Amino acid sequence: MSEKIVTQQLLLPDLRFVKQERVKNFRYIYCEKVSDFEVCPKCATKCSTIYDHVNVTIKDAPIRSKIIILKIRKRRFCCKNCKSIFREPVGGIYKRFRTSERFRRHLMWCASKFMNLKEVQKHGDCSAWLVYKAYYQQIERELRRCKSSWPKTIGIDEHSFLRNDKTKRVDFVTVFIDYNNKRMKDVVLGKSHGDLLDSSIQKIEGKENVKNVIVDLSPTFRTFAQEYFPQARIIADRFHVTKLMHPLIHELRRKVIEDNKIDIKRRNPINRLLLRYRKTLYCHQRNAIDTFLELSPELKELYWYQQRIYRFYRIKGYNKARKVFIRLTDEMAKTKNKQILSYRNTFRSWHDEILNYFSTKLTNGRTEGYNRKAKLIQRCAYGFRSFKNYRLKLLYSCQ
Ligand SMILES: [Zn+2]
Repeated sequence: MSEKIVTQQLLLPDLRFVKQERVKNFRYIYCEKVSDFEVCPKCATKCSTIYDHVNVTIKDAPIRSKIIILKIRKRRFCCKNCKSIFREPVGGIYKRFRTSERFRRHLMWCASKFMNLKEVQKHGDCSAWLVYKAYYQQIERELRRCKSSWPKTIGIDEHSFLRNDKTKRVDFVTVFIDYNNKRMKDVVLGKSHGDLLDSSIQKIEGKENVKNVIVDLSPTFRTFAQEYFPQARIIADRFHVTKLMHPLIHELRRKVIEDNKIDIKRRNPINRLLLRYRKTLYCHQRNAIDTFLELSPELKELYWYQQRIYRFYRIKGYNKARKVFIRLTDEMAKTKNKQILSYRNTFRSWHDEILNYFSTKLTNGRTEGYNRKAKLIQRCAYGFRSFKNYRLKLLYSCQ
């Protein structure tokens, strides 16, 4: 096969190869379009009267890391019907664009594979503006293609996004995770009830499909889920319930160590041991905990409630769990410790949601995993300024 035929096959389908030049890293391909007639964009009549010619320069996707520049000799036609003059269109190149669609797709490929967008800029020999524009445009197009309705199970969670200069506060974003298809459904700026209601999730259809909503112990998300998905069952995440008492345990432990002047120069494992499930510990570890707990009756009481919660989550069956939970909250009412009473109030207000875990065994683990991924994307990009771009990138990487 001659070089001419090879080059012709690499060109856009509408174009015919004329000649080529090589200058350093560039390869200039001269070409033109061949067609018997063109259609007038104004009045849609056939037109074959050539008015004049213009030369346009278009950047195409590189071949073997050589930059390809298409020099196209375009015809201008004069319409007989409406007397307007127009340029012939070329498939694969949008009107008024100086780069081909293929080149933009190539930039997107680089942007998703390379470390950062600066490298893409260097590789494609183009401006930062073009890289950003092409990248986010392509992502948007891709996401529009794979639109779907709400799934059966979703998870809701929030994570920090950026420090707002005006309000001096950290802005949060809320993510909706699709558990059935294992992907991110949507990202919304803000975490308040109003922000969630008045956002892009309104465009997603089929909210009556949602049967399970998994949330952490956030009252805002619960009220939102109750309002927006009235048929759904709300499930409180297991991990968030079990870690509820952890801060107070740590506080009391520090107090005991300070009051009794315990030497903590060596690494003291008691902070880890106090939070572990007792049945998985060795005998000497249990003894160590018991000796430590003798120093503070307050901590001792809290420790045993914590252990009961761990045991509670190992129960199988909804009815059995319900009985144990009611017994636990009833016994908590007898205590004089105000903080334990406040925990009791939390448990009672989340009664149905906590028990719903036992009929589905669903947790917020997947949502937290996607949060981890979101943080990684933020770090790799050294932070985002535009929420729109962040949303596109996040949705695209969590497909
Ligand atoms: Zn016309």
